[in-house]
Amino acid sequence: MRTGTAGPTRWPTITKDTGSFAVRPNLADYEATRRTFSWDQARNELSGLPGGQGLNMAYEAVDRHVVRGQGGREALRFIRADSGVQSLTYLELAGQSGKFATVLRELGIRRGERVFSLLGRCPDLYAAVLGTFKNGSVFCPLFSAFGPEPVRQRLHLGAARVLVTTRALYRKKVAPLRDSLPDLHVVLLVDADGTPEPETLDLAELMAAAVPLRDIEVTRPDDMALLHFTSGTTGTPKGAVHVHDAVTAHYATGRFALDLHPDDIYWCTADPGWVTGMSYGIIAPLVHGVTVVVDEEELDAERWYRILAEQRVTVWYTAPTALRMLMKAGPDKAAGHDLSALRFVASVGEPLNPEVVMWGQDVLGLPVHDNWWQTETGGIMIANYPAMPIRPGSMGRPLPGIEAGLVARDADGKPLLRDGEALLVNDPDSIGELALRPGWPSMFRGYLNEEERYRRCFAGGWYLTGDLARRDADGYYWFVGRGDDVIKSSGHLIGPFEVESCLMEHPAVAEAGVIGVPDPVAGQLVKAFVELRQGYGQSEELRLDIIGFARKRLGAAVAPRLLDFTPSLPRTRSGKILRRLLKSRELGLPEGDLSTLEQAPEQRP
Ligand code: AMP
Repeated sequence: MRTGTAGPTRWPTITKDTGSFAVRPNLADYEATRRTFSWDQARNELSGLPGGQGLNMAYEAVDRHVVRGQGGREALRFIRADSGVQSLTYLELAGQSGKFATVLRELGIRRGERVFSLLGRCPDLYAAVLGTFKNGSVFCPLFSAFGPEPVRQRLHLGAARVLVTTRALYRKKVAPLRDSLPDLHVVLLVDADGTPEPETLDLAELMAAAVPLRDIEVTRPDDMALLHFTSGTTGTPKGAVHVHDAVTAHYATGRFALDLHPDDIYWCTADPGWVTGMSYGIIAPLVHGVTVVVDEEELDAERWYRILAEQRVTVWYTAPTALRMLMKAGPDKAAGHDLSALRFVASVGEPLNPEVVMWGQDVLGLPVHDNWWQTETGGIMIANYPAMPIRPGSMGRPLPGIEAGLVARDADGKPLLRDGEALLVNDPDSIGELALRPGWPSMFRGYLNEEERYRRCFAGGWYLTGDLARRDADGYYWFVGRGDDVIKSSGHLIGPFEVESCLMEHPAVAEAGVIGVPDPVAGQLVKAFVELRQGYGQSEELRLDIIGFARKRLGAAVAPRLLDFTPSLPRTRSGKILRRLLKSRELGLPEGDLSTLEQAPEQRP
């Protein structure tokens, strides 16, 4: 690697000496591959179910390797809290997932019905995800740090039939509201140890008695496989529907954007409760037949460097908040760890500061490759590739098979159309709404039971992402900010409306407005502005009480960290709270000037 001429920021472009790579990059010639690639071609590289009958994610991820004589390969390598290592081969994973499918079938769970998880990174999760696909049912992961309210809402909206969880999470977050979830037929505890809670079952006992399902349920490419909840500016969480054909995109993006090769030891640090933990923590790497490292613990700098070194991780997919935390821990933590096996580092989920890209070069010996996607896209859409120069601060260029564009917006943020076609912003470095031409296999197929909300995501022939971006003269995309009010804190997408609704249930709160404020490590922190009801006076005690109330209901990852009292919140004439005004006031910007808010400071004019 060497640094060369300056890009559009003061940060130098990082060029690469591909001749010195230990492994030939899968995407060696970006332009040529874009010209020749087709999704059909990628689909043909997968197997399909035996007998040419349909497509099933679990078969592509696991059983296919077993049929090809690769069953003895190590599929999952769990690093337990005590640093002990437990491995599962592809053959074992095929058996475990087959048993889970049988358990579902014997419990009367049918195709299309929803199986939820509320779990950390434990071995049972992987059998549950893949076994659910084998049964033709739909998997929906939940973030285990959610409080009871987000859990209840999602189980209810998604009509959960089965929940797989732990005893502690069940007791704390589900048991108290079980009566309000009449559809929830079965709760499986992964750690029941022979004594399940009332109205739950012991998963280990059921698995021990089960025979692996012989014939995977025949699913078609367009059958629903996954449900991922995400948040919008208003309303309830949205359940993005994904289908089995998404595996075609997981395969192709794993190949191009993560450069997966069969001998890789791959580590994705994302939480399995979110889309990255599913698409790139489970499906994409298994489809490529690599060994997936799974750390059951949360981030700890010393532990993470040790894992990278001892497990000889070759490809690492992580997130800006995590990298900033490592950066904060200081280079000494990395010293003494042999990171020579590492050959590719990628990051997703939030803007990646150029400093972090360069830090990677210094401390890991490799720059960090930013890439962009979102729950709705189901897979990576824009990326920095191993063989392509990096412009630090840029998200990179669209994947082969993906057409990206920037749609012009009017003053209200609506897309500008002419004769039914979206008007595109084509001048280099001009800002528009990042948009994608529909048609890639992992595109969401709807928001569960919300047809109108889904329809509003499309205009003039494009899917509108809600993000603002610009594109430089060489086709690199640069993130500018969200076009709406959703908040990204430590990589978690948070809907302000959900937080406001919870705050307003506190007896002292009349109205609440919630925004994200910049934070050097978490990207953004959730901040609430609260108008009190008559009869309540401002005090530190009340402030802490309201924060504590929100934490208990929403969980620490979603609840506001900061809270200010305000005599009155800014509103539109129709009474809607103007979050953008709250935000510009908070940051001391001219009212309404938010176009450059989320840019890294050195990119702001
Ligand atoms: P989620 O649906 O939770 O995965 O969040 C998707 C959103 O995260 C995107 O719409 C962006 O706002 C943000 N995001 C994801 N990747 C990046 C990135 N590389 N740079 C900046 N923002 C990102």
